[in-house]
Amino acid sequence: MLAKRTCLQILSEGPKEVESSGERQKQVICLEPGTSAWMIIQEKIQELLDSDERDAFIVADLGVLAEQHQHFLQLLPRVTPFYAVKCNNSLSVLQVLANLGTGFDCASRGELEQVLKMGVAPTRIIYANTCKQISYIQYAASQGVQLMTFDCEEEVIKVAKFHPTARLVLRLYTDDSQSMFPLSAKFGATLDQCHHLLSIAKDLRVTVVGTCFHVGSGCQTPESFNKAIADARQVFDLGLQIGHPMNLLDIGGGFPGMKDSVSSFEEMATVINRALDHYFPEGSGVEIIAEPGRFYATKVCTAVLNIIGKKDVIKQGDRKLMYYVNDGFYTSFAIIRREKETRMPIVVKKFNYKPHRYLTTLWGPTCDAFDRLGPTDILLPELHVGDWLVFEDMGAYTHTLSSNFNGFARPEMIFTIPSELQ
Ligand SMILES: *Cc1c(COP(=O)(O)O)cnc(C)c1O
Repeated sequence: MLAKRTCLQILSEGPKEVESSGERQKQVICLEPGTSAWMIIQEKIQELLDSDERDAFIVADLGVLAEQHQHFLQLLPRVTPFYAVKCNNSLSVLQVLANLGTGFDCASRGELEQVLKMGVAPTRIIYANTCKQISYIQYAASQGVQLMTFDCEEEVIKVAKFHPTARLVLRLYTDDSQSMFPLSAKFGATLDQCHHLLSIAKDLRVTVVGTCFHVGSGCQTPESFNKAIADARQVFDLGLQIGHPMNLLDIGGGFPGMKDSVSSFEEMATVINRALDHYFPEGSGVEIIAEPGRFYATKVCTAVLNIIGKKDVIKQGDRKLMYYVNDGFYTSFAIIRREKETRMPIVVKKFNYKPHRYLTTLWGPTCDAFDRLGPTDILLPELHVGDWLVFEDMGAYTHTLSSNFNGFARPEMIFTIPSELQ
């Protein structure tokens, strides 16, 4: 057993209600110097092996979150991050970020409440959903949340009526064809619509303070940022002509979360910095923010699941293996099914396995055949009921997309805090 102190709720200095954010059995472990989140995973597996308990669990390394933040600030020194809450809304994640001083991108009343209850100032929040329910706009107004995005006439009319002192940010259409999860079919005004929208806002006496865009989540090319920043310059010029005090550029999210992304964060940052210096040079009085989600959260969580069932089948002369595991599409893997690249698990077995690999399918636990963890026929060695599978990089859009379909609860979350952050 590793020496460890379990400091339940060490992070939650805020009001108690925040803790009821639907998180199941939260445990926070303060790591002693020289120990790591990976050691906690091994220790927990060992503990479970000694019992009949085989529930899936997730270990979050909050040290990684702080590292990603440092990395972001170092490589994009002119940009203030407003973390996108929908990516991973665990209380501990939000609290660490609030302590580190990031702002927050919220998209609903629920997210606004969650962040405000932690004591985050409303000025550190952007309500970055272009189409908002009227009562949510009223809620934002009542809480002093001023920054909010829009991309169409109807939204300006609603804001003029229900939150006339809002500071609007016009969301621009971008070419998101190079991203894993495009967004432009649903969001963004094209450049030729901007003049009209900015004029309408002026007529209705609503202030537009800037522009924003999102190049698509999991953006694969930095060129998308270059083009969008150039377009943003045109929107600024239009806005200034029409008489809006344009001073905020929001470059959205889309920064890669995984190490082996097609385009690295470093490459992206180089292109972004160059574009910013060209179109919005230092001293131009423009504040620059971003809404990273995936970049901050992906590497924070590791999912550990157990093989609860196995089928050995012969199909077209090939031996194929199917495993049923206790985390799946409905609990943590919905987003994984939408990724192009196949995620391979690390296999944790009691005994060494033979090197031969079989065509393998990993099924989630529910009574739905769509509930698979990835593509069929991936190559894995033969495994057995009771073996553990570990998936890294499971912090972004995993538990925030989960449901308890078929009565399967989300896995227990264990948060670890390295000694430097305690
Ligand atoms: C989802 C979302 C983000 C975060 O995107 P990532 O690709 O995870 O960085 C940022 N801004 C808006 C408006 C979003 O909808």
